[in-house]
Amino acid sequence: MKIEDWYRENFESDLLGKYITLQMISPLLDCYTSLFEISVVGISEKGRNIPMIQLGNGPRKFLAWSQMHGNESTTTRAIFDLIKFFGQTKHFQSEINEFLNSYSFYIIPILNPDGSVLYTRENANGVDLNRDAQNLSQRESVCLRSVFDKLEPEGCFNMHDQRSIYGFDNGKPAIISFLSPSSDQERSITSARRTAMEGIVRMNRYLEKKIPGNVGRYDDSFNADCVGDTFQMAGVPTILFEAGHFKGDYMREKSRELIFYSVLSFFGLVGEKSEINFEEYFQIPENRKNYRDIIFRNVKVLQSPNLLDIAIQYHEVLSEGLITFDPYVEEVGNLKNIYGHIDEDLKGREILTKPAENLTDNVKVFEFVKNPGWIDDLLA
Ligand SMILES: [Zn+2]
Repeated sequence: MKIEDWYRENFESDLLGKYITLQMISPLLDCYTSLFEISVVGISEKGRNIPMIQLGNGPRKFLAWSQMHGNESTTTRAIFDLIKFFGQTKHFQSEINEFLNSYSFYIIPILNPDGSVLYTRENANGVDLNRDAQNLSQRESVCLRSVFDKLEPEGCFNMHDQRSIYGFDNGKPAIISFLSPSSDQERSITSARRTAMEGIVRMNRYLEKKIPGNVGRYDDSFNADCVGDTFQMAGVPTILFEAGHFKGDYMREKSRELIFYSVLSFFGLVGEKSEINFEEYFQIPENRKNYRDIIFRNVKVLQSPNLLDIAIQYHEVLSEGLITFDPYVEEVGNLKNIYGHIDEDLKGREILTKPAENLTDNVKVFEFVKNPGWIDDLLA
């Protein structure tokens, strides 16, 4: 069976969409208690449990955590696909048994359960946990650090979502990105960094076949307040995963699937087992902030005699348990070096606003209304 076929039929369909909370994953974890070791490793600032699941009993220990940022659930959904994969007894049995005997893979699916309910990046106290690695001012930060100290893993996965604004100089968008964080200002290639780079190269080789030219790497400026940098400082290879936007898929079910394959390829369950050279890491293109959700080019607006470009970016808003995507005008001007996931040349057509006002930044778009056809007819 091909892994893609397994995935299509078996991914964790109880978890869909971007709003994923502890309450939603708890019944799923309950289903796995007879198969895997599940424990509560901490309590959030608002008193919610922080569960951890252990896949396998092998000597090689890895630690992963997702939803450190509460509104970044794509990798959490991928984690439950992975748990389902390792928990099934029909397909890939020799690969799975070898994995479960070789590795102990510890996963914290939601490190920030309060933020997951509020759909915020930060925790309940408004603290970005990925800037709290030195202060350890929050319970969630202490929880992760104590699990890390206790387990002494040989590697870590720091799993996130990236915004839809990342692309490359060649105009392609970044669908999945990685980083092997620095552990000093000089960005030295320490042994931990090199090992993390090798893991990223392995995953990139696999992903390149699925999404050629859409895998990126983040800027490696050092920041000791970030968890990845701090864990690399401690000599433990730590990979930042960033699930991004696949054209048209705002729920990110596609990048979820790609993260699933990434982790399997990291552990050698899929893909080729070939020699890895860490230097290949630097051939992965670096992310630029050069993408927006929608760009309309060459439009006429009230305030300018010249044709201008307009960038529109969605703001995600939690409303009655659902995430809505509200479009906002982000920039009006010349956007030559910015690309749009939707990118339309409107060839001098006028954008009319209601009320008739100048089109400026940070205005919410309530509705897109296309020119009625009779205007085209008149111009023809
Ligand atoms: Zn994040």
